[in-house]
Amino acid sequence: MAVTHTLTIIKPDAFGAGKSGQIVAHLEQAGFRVVAARVARLTTEQAEGFYEVHKERPFFRSLVAFMSSGPCMPLVLERADAVAELRRVIGATDPAEAADGTVRRLYAESKERNAIHASDSDENAKRESGFFFAEMELIANRQVNER
Ligand code: GDP
Repeated sequence: MAVTHTLTIIKPDAFGAGKSGQIVAHLEQAGFRVVAARVARLTTEQAEGFYEVHKERPFFRSLVAFMSSGPCMPLVLERADAVAELRRVIGATDPAEAADGTVRRLYAESKERNAIHASDSDENAKRESGFFFAEMELIANRQVNER
């Protein structure tokens, strides 16, 4: 399986609760390498832009308010089959349905305040990585180049 990249965000619930170190350690133990990381406090407009695909969903306003409620930690991660593997490691959207040992099962509070985001396709991983990080940072730190 080819080495690829994905974008994750440790969301304001988990970051605010001081769980970012444990979650990054969990991801590294699952074979992911950190390519880029930062702490960001999203404005309402930035959270709306990031979650634009969900703008017709009934929970959109609540999701935007949550994601802009405090600092979060976006990271670009690298490993073989990164997008699918990260989705597996974080678990189902609702922590009550997430498998034992997944990040959401361990750290999420609720279906909305669910600790972590993960891109759902290679295309979205590229878009979402570009939302938070400059091409310059990503190129410098990648072990594998996907163009
Ligand atoms: P994900 O890919 O597992 O993150 O899930 P989605 O792309 O479907 O939804 C994006 C985010 O919106 C989720 O991670 C949750 O934070 C939130 N969300 C999803 N479904 C619901 C819902 O039914 N109610 C509320 N309040 N928030 C939701």
